[in-house]
Amino acid sequence: MKAAVLCGEKEIRVQNMPEPVCESHGVIIKVKLCGVCGSDLHVYKKDEGKGTIFGHEFSGDIVEVGSGVQGITTDMRVTAVGFSPCGKCYWCQQGKSHRCSDMALLGYQLPGAMAEYVHVPFAALGRNVFPLPEELTYEDGASVEPLSISYFSVNRAQPKENEIVAVIGLGVIGLYSIQVLKAMGVTKIFASGRRPARLAAAKACGADLVIDAAKEDAAKIIMEATGNLGVNTVIECAGKQETFDQSVAITRGGGKIMLVGVYEEPIKWDPITVLSKNLTLIGCLGGNFPAAIELLKSGKAKTKDIITHIFSLDEAAEAFRAQLQDPRAIKVMIKP
Ligand SMILES: [Zn+2]
Ligand SMILES: [Zn+2]
Repeated sequence: MKAAVLCGEKEIRVQNMPEPVCESHGVIIKVKLCGVCGSDLHVYKKDEGKGTIFGHEFSGDIVEVGSGVQGITTDMRVTAVGFSPCGKCYWCQQGKSHRCSDMALLGYQLPGAMAEYVHVPFAALGRNVFPLPEELTYEDGASVEPLSISYFSVNRAQPKENEIVAVIGLGVIGLYSIQVLKAMGVTKIFASGRRPARLAAAKACGADLVIDAAKEDAAKIIMEATGNLGVNTVIECAGKQETFDQSVAITRGGGKIMLVGVYEEPIKWDPITVLSKNLTLIGCLGGNFPAAIELLKSGKAKTKDIITHIFSLDEAAEAFRAQLQDPRAIKVMIKP
């Protein structure tokens, strides 16, 4: 089968690879669509993982089911999460492999879905393999993973309908966070980002005030718009020193800052700025697939303003270049 393989720094090549073999606990999925993720770009840029087959945001059809797998049948349209515990660490030895400290992830240590077929180990219906309701397209299916992260992070903040929430950083997670906030009934959503295509998408997703942080002082505008009180909650999806400082500056006393974006570098901060306002900083790492599927099914979350490019598997190198550099790109997908 064909697969897109990382062969060096920013070098993706489509190669012929052996088809995956189905383990008794696994399933094989014929991949229909697979998103390029910001996390993939961290590895792609740094030449950290020669031989990696990326792809953890995907949808497809089940074509083979391991003998020990219950309830999953061929021809099911699904999205899935793949991981494999190490079997050796403290937690694995205790039989608590879900806490494994050396978990191998599909799309990184395990071959991912930027290929014609992908093997998902330890397949369990409703736990890591999720059937797509008929209302969902394969585009929707491949968007469930990032949307599930936005849902998880926003839901952790428990925003109330009459609160003001700011989303800082308008990548895919930030944009889906706006849709999730809207779906939860939050009536005032501010959004701050940099690229014109993403600012337009934020508006389309339902943000009430969209700030071009490349040209404007986002903190100043948000403070003015809130009568100098600041917002109740920030969803920080950018992960930079500047956006962290901004988040602290624009959150009102007693407010919350959800740390969602991955910080590529450590940052500096003065804890007095947080304690003097009784702020709560909350780290977010997780996803909720069933909630994301429900949001897509109800039409409250939509992929149309977010998926901007779809490339064939043969054009995988181009897809990565677009995701990294093309100013119009929001979510780029690969169609094997
Ligand atoms: Zn991802
Ligand atoms: Zn382990």
